[in-house]
Amino acid sequence: MTHDTIVLGAGMVGVGCALHLQARGQAVALVDRRAPGLETSYGNAGIIQREAIEPYALPRSLGFLLSGATNRRVDVRYQAADAVRMLGPLWSYYRNSAPGPLQKISREYETLIALSLETHQQLMNDAGANDLIGGMGYVMLFRTERELHAFHQVADARAQHGVQHIKLSGADVVREEPSLIGSFAGAVRWTDPVAIRSPGDLVQRYAQLFEERGGAVKLGDAMSLRRTDAGGWQVDTASGETLTARQVVVALGPWTLQLTSRFGYTAPVIPKRGYHMHYASVPGQPLNSTVIDAEYGYVIAPMQKGLRLTTGAELAHVDAPRNLAQIEAAEHIARQSFPLGERVDPEPWMGTRPCMPDMKPVFGAVPSVAGMWCAFGHGHQGFTLGPVTGELLAAMMTGNAPRVDVRPFSPGRFG
Ligand SMILES: Cc1cc2nc3c(=O)[nH]c(=O)nc-3n(C[C@H](O)[C@H](O)[C@H](O)COP(=O)(O)OP(=O)(O)OC[C@H]3O[C@@H](n4cnc5c(N)ncnc54)[C@H](O)[C@@H]3O)c2cc1C
Repeated sequence: MTHDTIVLGAGMVGVGCALHLQARGQAVALVDRRAPGLETSYGNAGIIQREAIEPYALPRSLGFLLSGATNRRVDVRYQAADAVRMLGPLWSYYRNSAPGPLQKISREYETLIALSLETHQQLMNDAGANDLIGGMGYVMLFRTERELHAFHQVADARAQHGVQHIKLSGADVVREEPSLIGSFAGAVRWTDPVAIRSPGDLVQRYAQLFEERGGAVKLGDAMSLRRTDAGGWQVDTASGETLTARQVVVALGPWTLQLTSRFGYTAPVIPKRGYHMHYASVPGQPLNSTVIDAEYGYVIAPMQKGLRLTTGAELAHVDAPRNLAQIEAAEHIARQSFPLGERVDPEPWMGTRPCMPDMKPVFGAVPSVAGMWCAFGHGHQGFTLGPVTGELLAAMMTGNAPRVDVRPFSPGRFG
């Protein structure tokens, strides 16, 4: 079968690219080794983060760095050998997290986040997926006055950019979430984000929309990608077909560079793995909103399968053995404050956020590889940014002007 473009990877980013290329009149095949939305885009916290106009910077305080080194924090852990291999990118991440560089990076990042909600809303309407919306907004919960007041400054600064919030006192928190146990200094409720109660299903609905509009969704191994004599691309599907196209988009999330490096393109990445587990609700004790326990860096999100606890970051190679210590530590803390029943899943889920040292996603033409494009490195917000990435990349690939300046996200910025 011949197509204009083959998109490799059917996570939120790849599906977003496929839909937008199709909307620009291209014949597109979407290839994944599994069904759409079963990897990182399945296991995340499900928040379309319209408030995240600053990317996730590395805390630079001495206290954080010292406590991080002990490898006992709940929010950040590391696997030592992998962390040593990441020292170069981590140093770059540290420097980019200083106030000056971070301000510039945030200005660029905000141009994407600002379009995140409208690009999702359009697709949700078209896909008939509004039933997957679990609620509007989410809560950043604080245990200490000091951290709460520091975060008030963040919230007030974001308000200058049109990001809405409500400040909640400890008593307000109890009124809004009466099932929480213990006392809290207060919270900030972001009101713009949208909480999705089954993130993988949203990707699948988008993929169904792509198919209904004539797109081809195929099972296949992206590693079978090869050049044709005519300078195009070919990929084999699991059913024995060979797909051919002029252009290819590599949107394999944390696996992207495994493929592009075969063609000579690589970039520094910090893989931040995360784990999740679902818990049964305790009868009569619902959780009304998604809540981030800010000082411990885990999320409790009401989902279709139960209350989903997602962990912060584990710095480890995508294929390194699992280490369940972090999710066990988070569960131990969470059980003291949240109404968590029995574990629902037989074992914790694990996925990887590919984070770039400059905290910005990577999308555009792969340097020196004619006809190859990529879209990856969305770190903590790829579920949010998949559709807008697709829109901008599709504009570039079809010779149209993207709505925002895409140069800050160029793959060519790494060597
Ligand atoms: C714990 C956790 C919580 C998070 N919470 C949020 C959140 O609330 N909001 C938010 O915006 N983001 C969140 N994220 C980040 C977000 O989930 C990711 O940025 C996003 O899912 C990345 O999407 P993707 O399409 O790039 O990658 P993926 O979803 O990983 O998709 C990559 C696809 O490539 C396929 N693939 C890989 N190798 C091959 C191969 N050889 N052949 C064929 N196919 C292949 C995979 O099967 C997969 O479908 C979270 C991440 C984690 C880990």
